[in-house]
Amino acid sequence: MTPKGREARTTPRYTWEKHGPIVVASTLSSANEQTRLLVHRHIHELLHEFSLPLKVSSTPLDEADLQLVRQLAASSTVGSLLDGDRFEEQLGETRAKGRLLQGLVVLLDPGKYERVHFEGEANQQALYGYSVSDGLCLLLNYDAAPVRHEVSHMLGLEAHCQNTACVMHYKCPRPGRFCDSCKMTLIDLWH
Ligand SMILES: [Zn+2]
Ligand SMILES: [Zn+2]
Repeated sequence: MTPKGREARTTPRYTWEKHGPIVVASTLSSANEQTRLLVHRHIHELLHEFSLPLKVSSTPLDEADLQLVRQLAASSTVGSLLDGDRFEEQLGETRAKGRLLQGLVVLLDPGKYERVHFEGEANQQALYGYSVSDGLCLLLNYDAAPVRHEVSHMLGLEAHCQNTACVMHYKCPRPGRFCDSCKMTLIDLWH
């Protein structure tokens, strides 16, 4: 589940897709490398299913970039909450310095975080993650449906769907199928 009780954007979207494949940055311990590869596969399958002209990298971030991601997470952590807005803001500053320019999917430790907190969340809790079309996807759950839901927010499906069987419904139903309307929107956005 995620966003986004915000007003329509007033500035152009950051075009992360011009900076190479989407990267999956894992802040989990190295024992969880399988999890990173699993998320990579969910994203790869999503891009492939709709023939989207995008790629997701299977290689881990280099140590320096991963350290940056960890710093962003650490400075956005308040108790058991991750402050999504703060992460997003700091990522913007990092990108202004020429780092972490790609679409960024960040794996966060579900044992450490209760949820992601963000502005306007009064009626929507981000239990699975938080994602914005500016090229950021914060993940707390690695099952196929939540990954497809959150990454699709990053791919530009900003609003939740009214169809209760669609993966873009705010409850993110399994197994993670898209309704025809969301499917067409996603395809139109990238073709
Ligand atoms: Zn959502
Ligand atoms: Zn839908």
